Amino acid sequence: MNGERLQAARRIVLKIGSALLVDDATGAVRRKWLRAFSSEIAYLRQRGQDITIVSSGAIAFGRQELGLTSSTLALEEKQAAAAVGQIRMAHAWQEALTTHGLRLAQILLSLADTEERRRHLNARETLTTLYRFGVVPLINENDTVATEEIRFGDNDRLAARVAQMVSADLLILLSDIDGLYDKDPVLHPDARHISQVEVLTDDVRAMAGKPRRDYSSGGMVTKIEAARIAVGAGCAMIISDGRAESPVRRLEGGERCTWFEPAASPRTARKRWIASALDRDAVVMVDAGAARALLRGKSLLPAGVTAVRGQFKRGDAVRICDSGETQLAIGLIAYDADAARVIAGRQSQEIAKLLGYKGRDVLIHRDDMVVGA
Ligand code: GLU
Repeated sequence: MNGERLQAARRIVLKIGSALLVDDATGAVRRKWLRAFSSEIAYLRQRGQDITIVSSGAIAFGRQELGLTSSTLALEEKQAAAAVGQIRMAHAWQEALTTHGLRLAQILLSLADTEERRRHLNARETLTTLYRFGVVPLINENDTVATEEIRFGDNDRLAARVAQMVSADLLILLSDIDGLYDKDPVLHPDARHISQVEVLTDDVRAMAGKPRRDYSSGGMVTKIEAARIAVGAGCAMIISDGRAESPVRRLEGGERCTWFEPAASPRTARKRWIASALDRDAVVMVDAGAARALLRGKSLLPAGVTAVRGQFKRGDAVRICDSGETQLAIGLIAYDADAARVIAGRQSQEIAKLLGYKGRDVLIHRDDMVVGA
């Protein structure tokens, strides 16, 4: 079953825990593992799947390089370690992936980038553009400017947010545990492994127990939190032990793991998310031609807009109405209200001249639109 489901996924986010990448004893890169894993990425890419890697390890590498041995570091020490270690980590990834002819792009995100709609829209556009170029994005949290405590395990949540942002259909958390157990298997040898979670109930949450404080893993609590985000966004999630070589092939071969089933399709979930924050006064009126195009699933171009009402910022949800005030769709708009008024009714090629900068050709992309909402 694993194999078919993995193959069917169009867009996969893989989250790599520090323990996979960094040798515990020496602090060195686990090169053999990384080489084998890179060949797996190449194989997934060859199958036409869009791949994103969310990798931890910056702090683990950095603390080793800076000789920071204490188990508790001050925030600024962690931030310094992350700044040093991120380069080393990205370099290790690049070296490994280029051997397989893959191109890599580094993106450092903060959780706010994924939560705020305007930034979300930017990051999503960048990521989908990278997929179009066949590039593999390598993502980590922007630890050096994080304003709150950097928590190990945050990358579980970050990976889930990224999966939501790019409408991935599969998120794989590769860490040092092979899935969810009905109680903590470290404390209870009789703990039972759960292979599938259909619905994320309170009982399932309770199985995660308390967060652990060790440094290579966020424990189960953050993984369940990641599952909540992922399945709500229509993305299936797997928790799997990735420490042994070639974890993806192992998974495909039926290795034990836990599947969390999505609550909806990514498309439906995204549309629900788009429609969830709407200012009713923010309206874009369109002509009959644009109205017909929208209903056929096309993006909205500035040329088809006859009027813009209300105040809104880029990334806000606005209503799209026809000349009879009938609402045709809701969508996230790619321009602020003032800019939208300037380019309304004009050709996309004129945008740069009218605004003094070249923004998006479309006013509302069809992926950011819910028709008939
Ligand atoms: N962003 C941290 C790092 O790269 C790791 C956070 C995590 O493991 O969840 O060192």
